Amino acid sequence: MSSQQTIDLASYIRSIPNFPKPGIIFRDITPLLASPEALRETVRQLADAVRDRDVEAIAAAEARGFLFAAPLALELNVGLIPIRKPGKLPSETFSHTYTLEYGTDTLEMHKDAIKPGTRVLVVDDLLATGGTVEACCRLIEKAGGIVVGCAFVIELTDLKGAERLARYRPVSLIKFS
Ligand code: AMP
Repeated sequence: MSSQQTIDLASYIRSIPNFPKPGIIFRDITPLLASPEALRETVRQLADAVRDRDVEAIAAAEARGFLFAAPLALELNVGLIPIRKPGKLPSETFSHTYTLEYGTDTLEMHKDAIKPGTRVLVVDDLLATGGTVEACCRLIEKAGGIVVGCAFVIELTDLKGAERLARYRPVSLIKFS
């Protein structure tokens, strides 16, 4: 076993109660980002978890998804497709609006970001209800891409996002209930 495999990634996640509102335990990835060893190991484990999916491109939504998507794209030697909040992307976009606990949110992706049939992996820092990544998957499908998986650093298992995203075969490295 290499020394890298002994890194306990969960120990690099800081849990902050009642942020951003009462009753929420915020899972803070900043200690993990601050450690090159932990970040490298995170990217290595994400890559290993999806290596058999023949990934041709990675997509991620701003902002924290980008932090893991860029090094993972380099590790897998594929390109990166940014998915953004409305009005940020400069060329023609597909748009998808989805429901939140209170209200709605919209994400956009460039129409020419994906060639039809491209095998795309969606990456995010954390899986809660799965709404954000489901919206990303819908955008990819609108463009004719094939979602071959979604990968998360953290999963909040009680919220059952993995069930919601089951058809996209989600993987996660650290689970909190
Ligand atoms: P969801 O769409 O419900 O799966 O929410 C996922 C997004 O919300 C992720 O991109 C996270 O950055 C953020 N998020 C949701 N819950 C938490 C939490 N408890 N701690 C940190 N980030 C969270």
